[in-house]
Amino acid sequence: MTIDRIIKKFESNNPGVKTDVLKKAFLFAEKAHAGQMRKNNEPYIQHPLHTAYILAEIRADLPTVTAGILHDVPEDTDITLEEIEEEFGAEVASLVKGVTKLGKIKYRGIERYRENLKKMFLAMTSDLRVIFIKFCDRLNNLRTLDALPEEKRRRIAAETLEIYAPIAGLLGIERLKWQMEDICFKYLYPEKFNELEYKYEVEKKLERQRFLQKVKKILIPKLNEANIDYQIEARFKHLYSIFKKMQEKDRKFNEIYDVFALRIIVPSIDDCYKVLGVIHTIWRPKPNRFKDYIAVPKPNGYRSLHTTIFGPEGKPTEFQIRTKEMHEEALYGIAAHWYYKAKNSGEYQQPYWIQEIVDIQKEITNTSELVKNIKMDIFRDRIFVFSPRGDVFELPEKSTPVDFAYAVHSNIGNKASGVLVNDKLGRLDQELKNGDMVEIIVEKNRQHPSKDWLKFVKTKRARDRIKQYAKKSTIENIKHLLPRIREDGKK
Ligand code: MN
Repeated sequence: MTIDRIIKKFESNNPGVKTDVLKKAFLFAEKAHAGQMRKNNEPYIQHPLHTAYILAEIRADLPTVTAGILHDVPEDTDITLEEIEEEFGAEVASLVKGVTKLGKIKYRGIERYRENLKKMFLAMTSDLRVIFIKFCDRLNNLRTLDALPEEKRRRIAAETLEIYAPIAGLLGIERLKWQMEDICFKYLYPEKFNELEYKYEVEKKLERQRFLQKVKKILIPKLNEANIDYQIEARFKHLYSIFKKMQEKDRKFNEIYDVFALRIIVPSIDDCYKVLGVIHTIWRPKPNRFKDYIAVPKPNGYRSLHTTIFGPEGKPTEFQIRTKEMHEEALYGIAAHWYYKAKNSGEYQQPYWIQEIVDIQKEITNTSELVKNIKMDIFRDRIFVFSPRGDVFELPEKSTPVDFAYAVHSNIGNKASGVLVNDKLGRLDQELKNGDMVEIIVEKNRQHPSKDWLKFVKTKRARDRIKQYAKKSTIENIKHLLPRIREDGKK
């Protein structure tokens, strides 16, 4: 890897941004790491350079790529964070500091896992960019795992599968998630990996290509007729997801990978629906397989249209239809969000669950409790529900109308007495589904929430508000005693 390649990559996504600082960081880090070698016998500087390149690929901003080049300097050389701050300013120095803090974990086993997770979450809530650097650092380390002893390889691979990959998924950085998973899969289950790789890449490759040609031959003239500008690509299925599906659903390899997959990228949202129309006129759609993630995005922000049709020879074929912007978001998740927002100089809005982590960790200092709570609230899938005015609220899966009411406003929660879900009368304790429209019926004179709600609410916010009231009402109950005590003056 060379600094020029990094600069070129960065400039291709950020035309007009001055990149002198990247060159400066390179010279600084090269000098600092001079003489150090990696286990794979490369000069050490190659590792931070690769890290920075992946960061540029996922559209990280300039301070982040700079910090990527410098990320191992304080840890592995005599140079201090103060010196980095003097040379590169407070922002870059604080990113490097964040990564350095994440690096030092002395525990073993389950303790190590918990500490690791906790540190990740802490870093995430202070500056997400630290996590981007750590991910890219980890990905490059995974790519050079061969140089390490077996034991260490397995530990790093397992830790990545358990901690890094799910968080990358949570942040919607699919690209990093897949890459990490496939490498870890190879090290943890070498035989399975080789078997699948052979089947997928060798045995079935030609068949797949032949089939996709056939689909294209039918589809392309129709798209041209409809005057749609498109890019069409075959979709590579990553091996770990095939492996997981085989395990989870106990299905045979052929059932899973015989589903052929194509992706169509078009200029506008309008075109997405047009393409869908074209596909459904040519082939019969498979029931229940159409998903409109444009109208109702996934909780991590993912947007696309999905449909499976019975293609040529009756073979099920999956299509993903999306715009270029959606495509980039799907690959780079929050990183890309940031990129687009920054380009349009809009404000970056933190995802809702990051604020939840901040709230939880303020209260809980015991690590295992903290991790348990975070996993409960955050690692659960999330849903979107709508207010009658069309405002969108993001909630944990299985949330109830009471959770929704408190997400809208404490007063709505406190005075909730009934609910309409999709215009039908519902129950306050029912589970909401992604895309539901929820209208809370408020009883104006109602003074307090019901303690029974604690039995079914899912969000911390609702729980806290109800408990707060429960506490208050205890004070209410003894309040009539208080004035008398005070009037006594002394007691
Ligand atoms: Mn590193």
